[in-house]
Amino acid sequence: MLNRDALLFSPTRDGVPSSDDHFTADDLLGAQEALEAEARDTLPYRFDQCTYDLGYIKQPLFACRTCLGDRAVCHACSISCHTSHELVELFNRRAYRCDCGTAAMGAGSCCSISGRDDAEPNSLNRIDDNFRGIFCYCGRPYDPHTETDDMLQCLVCEDWLHAACVGLPHSDDDDDPTKPLCQDDFDQLVCWRCVQGSQDVRRVMTRYAGVEGTGVLLLAPEATVFGRVRSSDTDDDDEGTVKGDDEGEAVEASAETTTEPQSEGKRKAADDAAEEPAAKRVKAAGTAATAGPSASGATEDGDAVPTGKAPDAQDPASCRAPPVVPADASPLVKLERGGARPNVYLEEGFMDRWCRCRECLGMFTKLPFLLEEEEVFEPPEDPDAHKSTFELGMNHLLTRMPRIQALDSVRAFTGLSDRLKAFFRPHADSGTSITKEHIQSFFEKERERERD
Ligand SMILES: [Zn+2]
Ligand SMILES: [Zn+2]
Ligand SMILES: [Zn+2]
Ligand SMILES: [Zn+2]
Ligand SMILES: [Zn+2]
Ligand SMILES: [Zn+2]
Repeated sequence: MLNRDALLFSPTRDGVPSSDDHFTADDLLGAQEALEAEARDTLPYRFDQCTYDLGYIKQPLFACRTCLGDRAVCHACSISCHTSHELVELFNRRAYRCDCGTAAMGAGSCCSISGRDDAEPNSLNRIDDNFRGIFCYCGRPYDPHTETDDMLQCLVCEDWLHAACVGLPHSDDDDDPTKPLCQDDFDQLVCWRCVQGSQDVRRVMTRYAGVEGTGVLLLAPEATVFGRVRSSDTDDDDEGTVKGDDEGEAVEASAETTTEPQSEGKRKAADDAAEEPAAKRVKAAGTAATAGPSASGATEDGDAVPTGKAPDAQDPASCRAPPVVPADASPLVKLERGGARPNVYLEEGFMDRWCRCRECLGMFTKLPFLLEEEEVFEPPEDPDAHKSTFELGMNHLLTRMPRIQALDSVRAFTGLSDRLKAFFRPHADSGTSITKEHIQSFFEKERERERD
């Protein structure tokens, strides 16, 4: 549909036809359509509504390096208020409120959409290195035009990390059999800084990461992967069926290590029971009012700490988490003791694999994004995005100008458009080229018309 050659006629690109290039009327129309399609793809969203009033939400975010303090601006403000500024695209970030028109952006900062000026700074926005265009452990500035490595976002800190920096091949080399772990093998990544820097993350990861059959993967320096759900010693050569289709196999692989294998039927049933009140249970975890997948958890040891030494104190049927082991026996800690800085890779479906018994849910209280897919604000689509520039121009004239003047303009515009079409028609029919001279002669005649 989108003719790449036609795009070459875009005046915003290299390869703009020089005055001695020849092109046909069809080329011109094709180029126009391609450009409009491209514009719709690039800017399909409205940008006339700032998200400030929605508060702290997960949304596509930009940092403005021109305004004071490298603060966060929403998608709409990035276009409407900061379009000529130096922006860093941060993609989706959780719990940010638009800083446009707050005092944090400097005295006199004003949001051109809302008219808000010098509002209180958003004290909960976290400004990190990404806001200065610095990404990953390696601290390289990110340039979308020159960066050749894939970047992956840490689920916890939301920094973007180079595939190479987290020990993964470029996605183009994903079928490289010498690589123990490829980007296709997992769904989300938690970087080692988060594993080491957050008590909450650490508690979950020391319990699950690298334990066979949890799907919480660790990549050891000697190129071994621990924690796969799928049996790693199977000689099944169809790599493409790792997810979903291999449930039966997964059961066998994990049956020996977990008390509750992930038989599809059972898991579904457990999920159905747990699904609805899940969000509430996260919030209410630790209160007596919650009901786990089975009632047994509520009957005793209400105050038991999840890291307590005896997981067996609980009805084993109610807890699916890997057994608690002494700290230095956890695969994660073993790796760390060996000098590794282990990132954790979460296999597809990881949210279903956490145990959600009442006790275990306590581990996730501050990590709700590990339990549930987060909602991301998406700017409303631009209802005009499908219209051609001709239609847009007409709408603009008819809605903004004084009516009489507008109608005159419309007549003039459509007259010009008709004459252009009449002029191009013979060329389009015969497929002959249109030259600079043709165009000059057309506008020469137009000027004569005006003079008459
Ligand atoms: Zn905004
Ligand atoms: Zn700005
Ligand atoms: Zn704004
Ligand atoms: Zn890096
Ligand atoms: Zn991280
Ligand atoms: Zn549990």
